[in-house]
Amino acid sequence: MQLATLENTFARELEGLTVPWQPVAAPEPQLLLHNEALAAELGVSFDVDVFAGRAVPEGAVPVAMAYAGHQFGGYSPRLGDGRALLLGELIDASGHRRDLHLKGSGRTPFARGGDGKAAIGPMLREAVIGEAMHGLGIPTTRALAVVATGEPVFREAGPLPGAVLTRVASSHIRVGTFEYAARNGGLRELADYAIARHYPGLGYLEFLSAVVDAQARLIAQWMLVGFIHGVMNTDNMAISGESIDYGPCAFMDAYDPGTVFSSIDHAGRYAYGNQPRIAVWNLSRFAETLLPLIGGDDAVERATSVLQSFDDRYGAAWRAGMTAKLGLREPDASFFEDTLSLLAAQRVDYTNFFRALPDAALGDARRAHALFTDPSAFDAWADHWRPLTSSDGLAAMNTVNPAYIPRNHLVEEALTAATNDDLLPLGRLMEVLARPFDEREERAPYAEPAPDRFTGVYQTF
Ligand code: AMP
Ligand code: MG
Ligand code: MG
Repeated sequence: MQLATLENTFARELEGLTVPWQPVAAPEPQLLLHNEALAAELGVSFDVDVFAGRAVPEGAVPVAMAYAGHQFGGYSPRLGDGRALLLGELIDASGHRRDLHLKGSGRTPFARGGDGKAAIGPMLREAVIGEAMHGLGIPTTRALAVVATGEPVFREAGPLPGAVLTRVASSHIRVGTFEYAARNGGLRELADYAIARHYPGLGYLEFLSAVVDAQARLIAQWMLVGFIHGVMNTDNMAISGESIDYGPCAFMDAYDPGTVFSSIDHAGRYAYGNQPRIAVWNLSRFAETLLPLIGGDDAVERATSVLQSFDDRYGAAWRAGMTAKLGLREPDASFFEDTLSLLAAQRVDYTNFFRALPDAALGDARRAHALFTDPSAFDAWADHWRPLTSSDGLAAMNTVNPAYIPRNHLVEEALTAATNDDLLPLGRLMEVLARPFDEREERAPYAEPAPDRFTGVYQTF
């Protein structure tokens, strides 16, 4: 079994960024989710004892990773894996190094006041959203397994069944890891390691540029599918360009740039429409850590001009994406603006709007009309839209516009059922989300927007 051949280059090569630590054994492990496709990609076999923290693969040296981070704009010098461990790294079927990581595996030296545990709901939530993102073609960490521990976890709501998530990432190096190393030592070694692992051959300024580029493209993809991360703290931004740390994230229903779901985001700092700006803010914190490595009297100017390139890169990725979503011949900024204003004014379901367009192009606007409070507003819009489209663009729309996103009410229903021992709704939902562009009649309920009782009141934790 390949789990026995886990490597630990991060812990071995970098000093002061990890603490060797052991997981707490789950007393009564019960497998809730096993991602067979991902296991095959990794070439690992199933081992519930490892996924439950009861056994560590032979030769593996689990570590808690140190990191700092700006949370809601305020700096915390020492966060780190409070309830998580890096088990080690393995080389996947396509030759890429991937981290294997446990979350909810007990307190570590970084736990501060936390109990080191995780409840079933949030761990399955991370699994569902990660697989949905993967299905949508968006770079993401992924769940290999979720195991119920058989132990309660005490939260505000009372006791909840506990769980451990086994997560796979192209690495767990965060902006917060650089913030930590910049203040505690080991910055150059960390940068050299991250470059070798993710952006081989680049200099430090080019490294900054590559991370800016990866994040610009990632955030554009989030925006194009209506994803709201919810906690874009610098410790939740990966250098690899993968989406990481799904907490109070959610997908937007009706188009509204001010959409916030997170119960802790009172000021709306991490609202849907703020995400590109927040990414630049986070990348600026990253750039600051690299200044001593970039070096020279003009390090600040050079780093600043790289940061300023975010807008162009993000804009180019977003415009290309929106051009494809609308089936247009070429980007049209003012038409994009008019379209989004209309969606906002009519509170149109963002996902279903794009999916209704191919029918409308063929003269059947029933699906589109049903999404508008004033259907004639759609007809007026469509009169402008049709001449801008191309036949190739129209033909490809259903390959870029998902029929299915993880609708908030469906995710909640599936997690509640799973918490009560019924795994069927979760399994069905994940099956649909694995192929989100593949629309099928029997899956119609999965494309419905949230019922009214969810609208405007739904909160994530
Ligand atoms: P997050 O909000 O999940 O990104 O986590 C922020 C920080 O809090 C990280 O350092 C986590 O490891 C830590 N943390 C979150 N929940 C717990 C917990 N239950 N026990 C210990 N540490 C935690
Ligand atoms: Mg985090
Ligand atoms: Mg976390």
